[in-house]
Amino acid sequence: MKTLEFESCYCDSCRHVMKENGQSVCDSCASCSLDGKSLICANCGAIIDNCPCFEGAKQSQLKLVESAIKNPKLTVVCFTAPSIRASITEEFFDGRVEDGKGKLVAALKKLGFDFVFDMNVAADFTVVEEANEFVLRYKEQKNLPMMTSCCPGWVNYVTKTYKEFVPNLSTCKSPQQMFGALLNTCFVEKLGKRSTDIFVVSIVPCLAKKLEAQQETKNSNTGYDVDVAITTSELVQMIKDAGVDFAKLEECDYDEFFGSASAAGTIFGNTGGVLEAVMRTVGDTLEKKETNELLSALVRGEEGIRRANIDFGKHKIKVAVVSGIKHASQLLENIKQGKEKLDFVEVMACEGGCVGGGGQPRHMLLEIPEFTKRRATVLYEAGNNTKIRKAHNNPSVKKIYDEFLGGVGSEKAQNLLHRNYE
Ligand code: SF4
Repeated sequence: MKTLEFESCYCDSCRHVMKENGQSVCDSCASCSLDGKSLICANCGAIIDNCPCFEGAKQSQLKLVESAIKNPKLTVVCFTAPSIRASITEEFFDGRVEDGKGKLVAALKKLGFDFVFDMNVAADFTVVEEANEFVLRYKEQKNLPMMTSCCPGWVNYVTKTYKEFVPNLSTCKSPQQMFGALLNTCFVEKLGKRSTDIFVVSIVPCLAKKLEAQQETKNSNTGYDVDVAITTSELVQMIKDAGVDFAKLEECDYDEFFGSASAAGTIFGNTGGVLEAVMRTVGDTLEKKETNELLSALVRGEEGIRRANIDFGKHKIKVAVVSGIKHASQLLENIKQGKEKLDFVEVMACEGGCVGGGGQPRHMLLEIPEFTKRRATVLYEAGNNTKIRKAHNNPSVKKIYDEFLGGVGSEKAQNLLHRNYE
């Protein structure tokens, strides 16, 4: 029943378009130019401006969503990635970057989604599972540095071009896939339905997440955690096509079932946000040490590679953040050659993290870094305004661990929230 029509893009057409435009390689990613000939694309989606096929794929996905909404037998559930609230207003408020969370939820309700949730809560689950996984690996000194796995562009890059580092990737699913798994199990159970009765749509910042949504899973009867992933730009088109006046909408809250996210999940869309969020929990687990302000100063920033030593008392954790996949090979080569010894690495394929994703509203190329910065500021402000700082202290997350998953790192959590790379 739940068919997906977006195929992985290996057609090479973007390279021909780039050639015609006088570009020799993809500006945003060094991977396709590694040998100057072959296309080894991380599918981060930044190439979207050069893709001659995307329009067709986009239309077919929007039609799937629209027909699911019209189908009275389906409960249509959507959730929005952390960065969307900061970019959606640009299209409706003359380029102003604001926290548009309330109007975003209202627009999705107006479009006919039965439930609208905040993916930031799933980011909290990712933080808790990833911190637990890191502490275990760190104590055993096994498969370090542990590398984040929430960016599918980066995961594609490792699995295609640096296979020797696959064991270093965290086994945690991304927040998108974790949320899909929880919706198809925990949520449908509460609704008294089956996973075939719901249709899960994620609103995301990139194309890589569309491909990620096609990963098969045993968790749901349909075989997928997420049925369709649509980008911010596609959602904007849906809102405009439906004649919804975004600016005039009365703000709404997300539906309650999953509660609200902590500040940790809220900053996930920024470069360094995942590492900062995970280390808040790691610090509490290893040494019961408060490191919030110190951590922020160490890991926030714009440089392509940032390194820090985090002092948790007895434990000194060496970390690095990579912003933009073109910087990843330098760090990976250093690690390979033994020039750098690290414990934890965060990589986001897009410069600035998901706030700079290829599925976000597109501006003139020169303006993208400026918009990326403004979106990042909105997410950090939203994080500052959130009372609960750490994912493991989020009562909504604790409740689902207690009542459904059976604890952090439990067998059920492993089955639902983790993946392998075969
Ligand atoms: Fe997608 Fe974010 Fe990764 Fe970019 S950084 S490819 S937007 S998940």
